[in-house]
Amino acid sequence: MAFNHYGWECERCGELNEGFLTLDHVNDDGAELRRSFGSNLYTWAKKFAYPPILQTLCYNCQWVKEIQRRARKRVVTETLQETTVRWKEGPAKGFCCRCKIKLTDQTARPSIIRNGYGLCRCCQGREDSNRADRIKGKVMAALGGRCQCCGENRLDRLTIGHPEGDGNFHRQEAGSGTRMYRKLVKDRLVSRFTLLVQCVNCNYGAYRNSGVCPHVSLVMTHSSQYYRTLRTLERTEGSSTLR
Ligand SMILES: [Zn+2]
Ligand SMILES: [Zn+2]
Ligand SMILES: [Zn+2]
Ligand SMILES: [Zn+2]
Repeated sequence: MAFNHYGWECERCGELNEGFLTLDHVNDDGAELRRSFGSNLYTWAKKFAYPPILQTLCYNCQWVKEIQRRARKRVVTETLQETTVRWKEGPAKGFCCRCKIKLTDQTARPSIIRNGYGLCRCCQGREDSNRADRIKGKVMAALGGRCQCCGENRLDRLTIGHPEGDGNFHRQEAGSGTRMYRKLVKDRLVSRFTLLVQCVNCNYGAYRNSGVCPHVSLVMTHSSQYYRTLRTLERTEGSSTLR
């Protein structure tokens, strides 16, 4: 019912396979809303007559949106810092060695202030994020560089899949995200786990679909088989882009 209202198509990329679709908070206030209304978004949306603060996105686009939100947050902090003192001449100690703003409790990490030299929080944040991207790029390239199911090759949509279902063990051992990628590079990409490059859609879609990517099978455990069959027939007749 929720998708009947918000649409059976990703607002950003037009993905039609419902195995990849989810409800997204337009204004990125998901955490706040969850606190006030509980965790079942579909029930909540129905109760409030499907308010326009939600939209249909695929997992890939929702993931990219979150990355963009974090990047935006960095820019906002930077604009605030325009009012702070900048280095102009003389000894550079106590100023960010990239953007030249004064290092204070607000603008820099404590260890940097103690040192007197280094990067402010913004420059450090951007540096960390670029480095994390480079490490992730290295890992993904070594493992094939594209989603092994659908061929997606944009880095911000890629993740590591565990076809043996031991992802939790791997994360317990090596951490997740950047920490896992860093450890993989350190271990020269040798791992006792079987790893697979997947896009977020194929990875999370399979997780929600009893381990089978919705590209392969449209049978899903959390929706009505009868209803799905009808919709699937409709789609197959109307569109040639379905796999
Ligand atoms: Zn999408
Ligand atoms: Zn700086
Ligand atoms: Zn994929
Ligand atoms: Zn797939």
